[in-house]
Amino acid sequence: MEFDYVIVGAGSAGCVLANRLSADPAVRVCLVEAGPADRSPLIHTPAGIIGILPTRHVNWAFKTVPQPGLAGRLGYQPRGKTLGGSSAINAMIYIRGHRTDYDDWAALGNPGWSYDEVLPWFRRSEDYFGGANTWHGAGGELRVSALDAHPATHAFIEAGRKTGHAVNPDFNGADQEGVGHYNVTIRNGRRCSAAVAFLHPLRGTRPNLTVMAGGHATRLILRGNAAHGVTVRIKGRDVDLVARRETIVSAGAFGSPQLLLLSGIGDEAGLRPHGIAVRHALPGVGQGLVDHPDYILPYKSPDKSLMGLSLHGAATMTRAFFEYRRSQTGPLASNFGEAGAFLRTDASLSRPDVQLHWVTGIVDDHNRKQHLGHGMSCHVCVLRPKSRGSVGLASADPLAPPRIDPNFLGDDDDVDTLLKGYKLAREIMAAQPLARYAGRELYVDNVRSDDQMIGVLRRRTDSIYHPVGTCRMGSDDMAVVDQRLRVRGMERLRVVDASIMPTLVGGNTNAPSIMIGEKGADMIARDWQ
Ligand SMILES: Cc1cc2nc3c(=O)[nH]c(=O)nc-3n(C[C@H](O)[C@H](O)[C@H](O)COP(=O)(O)OP(=O)(O)OC[C@H]3O[C@@H](n4cnc5c(N)ncnc54)[C@H](O)[C@@H]3O)c2cc1C
Repeated sequence: MEFDYVIVGAGSAGCVLANRLSADPAVRVCLVEAGPADRSPLIHTPAGIIGILPTRHVNWAFKTVPQPGLAGRLGYQPRGKTLGGSSAINAMIYIRGHRTDYDDWAALGNPGWSYDEVLPWFRRSEDYFGGANTWHGAGGELRVSALDAHPATHAFIEAGRKTGHAVNPDFNGADQEGVGHYNVTIRNGRRCSAAVAFLHPLRGTRPNLTVMAGGHATRLILRGNAAHGVTVRIKGRDVDLVARRETIVSAGAFGSPQLLLLSGIGDEAGLRPHGIAVRHALPGVGQGLVDHPDYILPYKSPDKSLMGLSLHGAATMTRAFFEYRRSQTGPLASNFGEAGAFLRTDASLSRPDVQLHWVTGIVDDHNRKQHLGHGMSCHVCVLRPKSRGSVGLASADPLAPPRIDPNFLGDDDDVDTLLKGYKLAREIMAAQPLARYAGRELYVDNVRSDDQMIGVLRRRTDSIYHPVGTCRMGSDDMAVVDQRLRVRGMERLRVVDASIMPTLVGGNTNAPSIMIGEKGADMIARDWQ
C-alpha cells in the first residue's frame, strides 16, 4: 500500500487531482473515498437530486448545531458521499463567481490567484457548449451545457427584464450581473460529475491510479512535521496508505478540517477536550466557515405544467420517465433550477451581492417538506455574508460527524441584505409574464412589516450548500495553507478543495473547487519536478 500521492476524498477537487497527477505514468496515485462507487441511477439522472437531497443516500446529510440567527433551528448540510463527492449530488449549475472575488484572494496575500491567473484553469477543464472563446474552454473533460428550459423559466427571465434587470447571456463571461439561464454540468442528459468527467474515462487506462471507494480516512500518519500517508478504515479494518511524496486532503469543507483535527493539527483548545494530543498547533483549522444563507420564496400555482404532487403530476412524471429512458431528454434531464440572477441590492455597490435561483417546482426545507399541488420557487442568497462560523470535533471518533456551526445570519448586515434581496426576488415573481404562473406565496400571509418579514427569514433561511474557508489559504496566523496549498508548518501535506477559499466567491462553488483541483495539481507536479 505504497504510493507517491495519496488523495483523501474523491470530490470535485479530488477527482481532478487524481486525473492530472496520474497522467505521469512514473508516479503511483491512490484516491481514497469514504462513500461507495457512484452506481446509483439517481446520481446520473439530473432530476435524481430530488431524491438524494433530503435523504442519506450517497449523502452525509450533516446537521449543524442550533443556529441563534435562525431562531435556534438546526441547519441541514447535505454533502456528497460517493465518487464525485458533492458534484454527484449537486444542482449542476456552472458558475465561477465574480472576477473580483479572485482578485480579492490575490490582494489578501495569495499571489497567483487573481482572476486572470485562475481563468486558464477554469478553461482547461471545460467543454463549453458554445465553443472556446476568451472566457470558456472547449474539449475539456467537464461538459458545460445549456438546458432545454421550461416555458416558465423563459417567463422568469422576461419578468426580470421587465423589472429593469439586464438579460445576461453568460454569467461566466465579461459581466456577471443580470438575469438569465444557468449553464449546467450535464452531458447528453446525464450528470457530468467530477467522477464522470475526470475518473471514469480513465478506467482500464491508468495502471498507476488506484481508486479505493468505501475507505474512510481516520487520521494522517505523521512523523515529526511531515505527513507520510493516511490510515483508512475499510470494511472494518484499518489500513495504512503510505505516501512517498505527498498526502493531499480533499475531503471538502467539513471533512478536511475534521481529518486535520483528528490528526492533532489544530488549536489545542479544540483538541484537548477530546483527548487528542497536539502534533502541530495551527489555530485556524476549522475556523472561518462561511456559507451562503438562502431563503426560498415558494409559490403555489394553478399551472400544472410546473412540477407538482397531483394525479396530473404523476402522469407527467410517468411520461417523463419513459421519455428519459428513450432519449435522455424531457423533465428528468433538467436540474429544475434552470435560471437565476445576480443582482445588486444597492446601486452604489460595485458588484452583485445577492443571487437568485429560480426553480420550476416548490422547494421547501431542502425538499424534506412536500406540498400537494403544483408550484414554483425562487431562492435568494447573500453572496458575501459577514457572518463567520466554524467546524470542530464533536467527538474523537473519526466516524462521527463533525461539529458544524455556520453562524447563519449572525451578523445583522446579512439579514439586511437578505431582506433587500427578498424584495427584489418578489418584484420579479410578481411581474408578467411570470405572474401568470403564480398563485399564492407561502409563509407570508400575515407579514405586514419588515420586522415580521425578518422573523420569517430567520425561521426559514438555511444553506444553499456552499460552505468554504475552513482551511483558509493565506499568510496570516489563522491561515491553514499557503498559496501553494501546503499546510503551514508541515511538510508533504496539502489541502486542495473548497475549504481553502480565502473568501466565499459570489456564486456556486463546484466550478471553483474544480479550478482549485486543476491549479493544485499543477503546483504539486511542478514542485516535484
Ligand atoms: C445539494 C447540493 C447542491 C449543490 N449545488 C451546486 C450547484 O448547482 N452548482 C455548484 O457550483 N455547486 C453546487 N454545490 C456545491 C458544490 O458541489 C461543492 O462546493 C463542491 O462539490 C465542493 O467540492 P470539494 O472537492 O471541496 O468537496 P466534495 O465534492 O464534497 O468532496 C469531498 C469528498 O471527500 C469525501 N470524504 C470526506 N471525508 C472523508 C474521509 N474522512 N475519508 C475519505 N473520504 C472522505 C466525501 O465523501 C466527498 O466525496 C452543491 C452542493 C450540494 C451538497
